[in-house]
Amino acid sequence: MNISENLKHFLRQVPENLCLVAVSKTQSNENIMQAYNAGHKILGENKVQELEKKYTELPKDIQWHFIGHLQTNKVRKIIPFVHLIHGVDRFRLLKEINRQAKINDKVQDVLLQFFIATEDTKFGFSIEEATEMLESKEFEELENIRIVGVMGMATYTNDENQIRNEFKALKSYFDKLKSVYFEDKPYFKEISMGMSNDFKIAIEEGSTIIRIGSSIFGERDYSK
Ligand SMILES: *Cc1c(COP(=O)(O)O)cnc(C)c1O
Repeated sequence: MNISENLKHFLRQVPENLCLVAVSKTQSNENIMQAYNAGHKILGENKVQELEKKYTELPKDIQWHFIGHLQTNKVRKIIPFVHLIHGVDRFRLLKEINRQAKINDKVQDVLLQFFIATEDTKFGFSIEEATEMLESKEFEELENIRIVGVMGMATYTNDENQIRNEFKALKSYFDKLKSVYFEDKPYFKEISMGMSNDFKIAIEEGSTIIRIGSSIFGERDYSK
């Protein structure tokens, strides 16, 4: 497995202005350093404990993205150093992120996660829930978070049509939020969608951030 070759090969397939988050979950520091030494410093993790450990052990100029389901009681552990939290799927979580960001004297960038798949193991807002939150008085008071866009995961299926329709739904939620709540907010511009098996469709449907693990690092070994 040559990670730097994989990375180069992968980058040739995607538009240059796209943000590539290399998903390093379950990967060893040695593997991650291969990507780092090849010049890639934007990494994604989905477990707080693993992210904390890697943050401590690896170079400090890595830009860490949290892409997993985040428990409210673990928010404080990652706020001091995390660049972007992709999976904000409930108001309570957003409030806790705001609270911890305030303690750390920062404004935390986040993405609202939408539920677009058919599997109920996936998390996220519906458009109605998101709208309700964005219109609430309580939301207006949050000064230490900045919503920079949306995120979603398509159903794990071979049905390309279904995947495409789910990504189209996410893009339509983005467009709606942009026009109603973020028209004058240039930072609201990100659509995080697309993984190793569906990134091509995601890019065609308007993705600005793709999250790629196995195509770069190889298959994950969960037994270790
Ligand atoms: C693991 C993971 C990915 C990357 O998956 P691959 O299929 O290995 O590219 C992307 N997004 C999230 C939220 C993940 O948990």
